[in-house]
Amino acid sequence: MGVINGGVSFWWQQIGIPEPRESLDGDLDCDVCIVGGGFSGLWTAYILAALDPGLDVVVLEAEFVGFGASGRNGGWLSAELSGSKERYGRTHGREGVTALVAAMERAVDEVVEVCRVEGVDADVVKHGVLYVARSPAQLVRMREGLADDARWGIGDDQVELTADEIGERLRVEGALGATFSPHCARVHPAKLVSGVAAAVERRGVRILERTRAQRIDPGVVTTDRGRVRAPRILRCLEGYTAGIRGQRRTWLPMNSAMIVSEPLPDAVWDEIGWAGAELLGDHANAYCYAQRTADGRIALGGRGVPYRFASRTDADGQTQDWTVASLTGILHDMFPATRRARIDHAWCGVLGVPRDWCASVGFDPATGLGWAGGYVGSGLTTTHVAGRTLADLATGRESALTALPWVNRAVRRWEPEPLRWLGVRAMYGLYREADRRESRGLERPSRLARLGNTLTGR
Ligand SMILES: Cc1cc2nc3c(=O)[nH]c(=O)nc-3n(C[C@H](O)[C@H](O)[C@H](O)COP(=O)(O)OP(=O)(O)OC[C@H]3O[C@@H](n4cnc5c(N)ncnc54)[C@H](O)[C@@H]3O)c2cc1C
Repeated sequence: MGVINGGVSFWWQQIGIPEPRESLDGDLDCDVCIVGGGFSGLWTAYILAALDPGLDVVVLEAEFVGFGASGRNGGWLSAELSGSKERYGRTHGREGVTALVAAMERAVDEVVEVCRVEGVDADVVKHGVLYVARSPAQLVRMREGLADDARWGIGDDQVELTADEIGERLRVEGALGATFSPHCARVHPAKLVSGVAAAVERRGVRILERTRAQRIDPGVVTTDRGRVRAPRILRCLEGYTAGIRGQRRTWLPMNSAMIVSEPLPDAVWDEIGWAGAELLGDHANAYCYAQRTADGRIALGGRGVPYRFASRTDADGQTQDWTVASLTGILHDMFPATRRARIDHAWCGVLGVPRDWCASVGFDPATGLGWAGGYVGSGLTTTHVAGRTLADLATGRESALTALPWVNRAVRRWEPEPLRWLGVRAMYGLYREADRRESRGLERPSRLARLGNTLTGR
C-alpha cells in the first residue's frame, strides 16, 4: 500500500476522526466567544472556566476541534521560546526574557499535570529533547546557541553531549555532538487535543463545530451560521488568521509537513537504540524534528513547501510528493536502519508567523477584542502559557503572566503579494543552499542563512 497523504493527520487517522459536535444554529449571546478550537482556544476556555465558573464561554470551530496544527504537530511539548530573546529583551530586558522562559518550563509540567488530573491519556512521557549537530558548521551553531543562552542566564540545565554520549541514548548517523534539555515531553497531539476539549466541556464551556467565523468586530462574530454577540471575543486562529476579514497580512501561514514510518521491528530499534521517549531535532537551518511514538514508529517533520501564495492553506493536510520524498530522505540519512521500513502516512499543516517572528498575546479592554498566536512552530507548550495569560487579561487580572514581554506587542503586518511569497521562498532557498554547503564540510555556519533571515526580518 502507498503512503496515505493527508486525511488531516496520521494522529487523527490513528484514533479516528471524531463525530461532529453541534453547530451554531442562528444567533447567540454569551459572555466570552473564543474563535478557533485548537490548543490556544481550548486552554483559554479551560482556564477562564476555572477562574470564573459562572462565565458563559463559547468556542467556535470551523471544522472539528484539533483540525488545525494542534492535531497535526510533532508532539514536542517543549519549553523552547517562540520568538527572539533579543526582541523580547529590547522592551523587557533580561528579567522579562528569563520570566518568559521560566513560564514555558513550568507550563510543560502544568500540561503533564492537567493530563493526570483530567485523566487524559495522550502517550505523555517527559524524557527531554536532544538536538544533534551533524556537521562542523552545525556544531559551531550549536555552541553559539549555548553561549548565547548562558549570556541571557537561561537554559542552566542544558548540557552538551559528545558523539559517544549521544550514542548511549540513540544512534544518529554522522552526529558530532548534541545539546540535551530536560524540558520537553513527547505527546500524541490528537489524543491530547481531544482530551483537553472533553475537559473544557466538563467545565461547562460550549464548543460549536462546523461554524466558520467570517469577520470579527467589537461585540460580534459573524459566521456562516449566524452571529455570536459577546462583550469579549478572543481570536485564536494561528495559521488560519488570514481567513478573517481584515487579517490577511497579520500572520503568514507557514507550512510544516510530517511523515510517519510503520512500527519498526526490534532489529531496527536494536540498531538505533532510542529506548526512551526523547524528542529529537537537529541544528540544520531548515531543521527537522522527530519523535518515537508510543507504538514504536518514527514520526519526523520538516519544512516542505514553506508557504502557499496569497496565504492559502492546505486541503485536509495533503502535502506535495517531493516533500514526502525529502522527509523520507532525511529519515534514511539519520537512521540508515529505517531504509527498508514502510512510510505509512504523510501530512502537513500551518502555523502562524508574525512579521517579527515573535509570538504575542493581547487584549484591548476598550473593544473587548483579544488574540493569541504567532508561535512560529513552537506552539504546543506556548498555547498553554498564552491561554493562561489571555484568560487573565480578559478577566482584568494583573498577574506575573500579564507582565511578560510578549503581552500586547504591536507588530507590523506582512507586505502584500507577491512580496511575502518571494521573500519566504527566497529565505528557504537560501536555507537549503546553506545546509547543502554545511553538509559538504563547511567549517563555519554559512552566511547564506543569515542573508535569508535578513530578507524576511527573522
Ligand atoms: C506539522 C506541524 C508540526 C508541528 N510540531 C510542533 C511541535 O512538535 N511542537 C510545538 O510546540 N509546536 C508544533 N507545531 C506548532 C503547533 O502545533 C501550533 O503552534 C499550535 O498547535 C497552535 O495552536 P492554535 O490553537 O493556536 O492553532 P490551531 O491548532 O491551528 O487551531 C486553530 C483552529 O481554528 C480553526 N479555524 C480556522 N479558521 C476558522 C474560522 N474562520 N472560524 C473558526 N475556526 C477556524 C481551525 O480549524 C483550527 O482548528 C507544529 C505545527 C505543524 C503544522
